[in-house]
Amino acid sequence: MAGTQLQDQLIPTLKKYFGYDSFRGQQQVIIETVLNKNNCLVIMPTGGGKSICFQLPALLFKGVTLVISPLIALMKDQVDGLNANGIKAAYFNSSQTPEEQQLIIDQVADAKLKLLYVAPESLPGLENILKENYISCVAIDEAHCISSWGHDFRPSYQQLGFLKKQLPNTPVIALTATADKATRQDILDQLNISNAHSFISSFDRKNIEIEVRPADKRAQQIIRFIKKRPQEAGIIYCLSRKSTEQLAETLQNNGINTRAYHAGLGFEERSKVQEDYLFDKVQVVCATVAFGMGIDKSNVRWVIHYNMPKNLEGYYQEIGRSGRDGLKAHALLFHSYADVLQLRKFAEGSGNEEVQLAKLERMKQFSEATSCRRKILLSYFGELLAENCGNCDVCKNPPKFIDGTIIAQKILSTIARLNESEGVGTIIDILRGAQNATILERQLNQVKTYGIGSDIGWRDWQHYCIQLINQGLCEIAFHENNTLKLTDLSKKVLFENQQVWLTKPVIIKESVKEAPVK
Ligand code: ADP
Ligand code: ZN
Repeated sequence: MAGTQLQDQLIPTLKKYFGYDSFRGQQQVIIETVLNKNNCLVIMPTGGGKSICFQLPALLFKGVTLVISPLIALMKDQVDGLNANGIKAAYFNSSQTPEEQQLIIDQVADAKLKLLYVAPESLPGLENILKENYISCVAIDEAHCISSWGHDFRPSYQQLGFLKKQLPNTPVIALTATADKATRQDILDQLNISNAHSFISSFDRKNIEIEVRPADKRAQQIIRFIKKRPQEAGIIYCLSRKSTEQLAETLQNNGINTRAYHAGLGFEERSKVQEDYLFDKVQVVCATVAFGMGIDKSNVRWVIHYNMPKNLEGYYQEIGRSGRDGLKAHALLFHSYADVLQLRKFAEGSGNEEVQLAKLERMKQFSEATSCRRKILLSYFGELLAENCGNCDVCKNPPKFIDGTIIAQKILSTIARLNESEGVGTIIDILRGAQNATILERQLNQVKTYGIGSDIGWRDWQHYCIQLINQGLCEIAFHENNTLKLTDLSKKVLFENQQVWLTKPVIIKESVKEAPVK
C-alpha cells in the first residue's frame, strides 16, 4: 500500500462511514489489495460483507468507483443507503431520463461522486467518462452472471471484458457469493484479470442445521414444523407462483401469519410484504426465488424448500438467508421425485441443457446422500471438510443399512416382466397390489409380481427404487416417458443373487398430537 498512510485510514474510515469497529474475515486484506491497484476475485457467502470490500476503497481513491450490478431494482436502495451514510453515490440505468443521466455524467467529470452503480447494458451511455482519469476502480458485483456455468447467466455481462482493455491500469474487483471452480476460472478469463488475487472465504455456515425429508404430505409437515417455532421467522421457497399462493393460504387457514411473494405481484404489494416481513409483522413468506435478493433480515431462523431447487448454488444461497446473525438456524429441503422430473424438463428446454442437467444431478445426489450432507455441499464449492459436520440429518441420524437383496429382486423382476416399459409409479402400484383404474384396465394385476410387496408402504418402495437407480442397479430412460430399464448390474442381482445394501427410510419424528392439522 502507498505507505502506511492509507493503512492508517482504514479503521477510521470504516468507523466513520459504516459504523463498525473492526473488519470481518478477509475484508482488510482485500481492501489493501484493491488499494494497491491489484485485481481481485472475492468469493464470500451471502451476508459475508462483500460490499465494504469495494465501498471503502472507493472512499479513499481519488476518482469514482464504477459498480457493475445486474439488479436495477436494487440500485436505488443501495445508493440511498450509501447516501444516508454520507457517501456520495449515484446510479445510472435505463430507468432514468437523458437529463438525469447527463447530470450524473457531469458529476463524474467534476469528481463529485465516489461510487456509481451501473447496469451492464447501460455502460455504452458512459462512454465519455470511461477513462482512467475519472475511474479509479471497477467493481463487478454478482460476477457469476458472466459465466454460462453460473446459475444466473446474463448475456449483458459477457461484454464486460472490454473494461480491462479500456482501463488497463484500473483495478478490477469481481465479487460473488456463488462460484464453483469452473465459474471462477470463467470469471477471470472473461474479465481479462487472470492475474487477480483470489480471496475465497469459507462457505461453511455451521450454524445452519441441514435436513432433507421425503416430500410426503409436505403441507402437514410444514405446519407442524412452524407450530413448533411459533416466534421464528422463516421463508418457504416454492417452484411456482401458484404454489406460493396455495401454500400461503393453507398456512393462513391454520393460523400461521403468512404472505405469498412472487414476481407476478404488483410492485406495491411486493414492497409491502418485504417491509412487513422485515419488521416482524409477518412470520412466514412463501416465495419464489425472486424473494430474498437484497433482503437484509438477520433473524430469519429457518428456510424450507417446498420444491427441490435446480442446483446447489441456488440452494446454498437460499438457505444462506437464514441465520445471518450467526445464531442457530434450520434448513429443511423436501426431496421429491416428481420435482426432479419436472426440473429435468425445464433444463432440457433451457438452451444450456448439458450444464443444467449436470447441476441438477449434483443437487439430486445431495438430496439422496447417505453421508454427511455438509461435506457434499462444501465439496461442491471446492472446500473439503475434514470431519463430518454433526449438524445435518445424516450425521444426527445415520442411515441404517439393511440387506435389500430381496427388495431389489422384487423391483427388478417387475421391471423385467413389464418389458422395461413402465415408470416407477406403476411398478410400485403393481408390487403393492393396487386396484386403481390403470392397473385394472391394463390387466396389470395379472403380472406375476402383483401384490408381492403389499407389506411395504408406497413411499418406502419409492425410497428403495431411488437407491437402486443411484447404485446403477436400474436406470431411468428420460426420453422414453421415464420408464425404468435394467442394466448389466441388474442381471447380477436377478440371476447371480448378488447382495444389495439399502438404507431404511428415515422416520420423521414430528408428533401429530402437538399440533393438529386442520
Ligand atoms: P454480502 O454483499 O456479502 O451479502 P453485505 O456487504 O451486504 O454482504 O454485508 C452483510 C451485512 O454485514 C451488512 O448488514 C453489513 O453492514 C454487515 N457488515 C459488513 N462488514 C461488517 C463488519 N466489518 N462488521 C460488522 N458488520 C459488517
Ligand atoms: Zn453432516
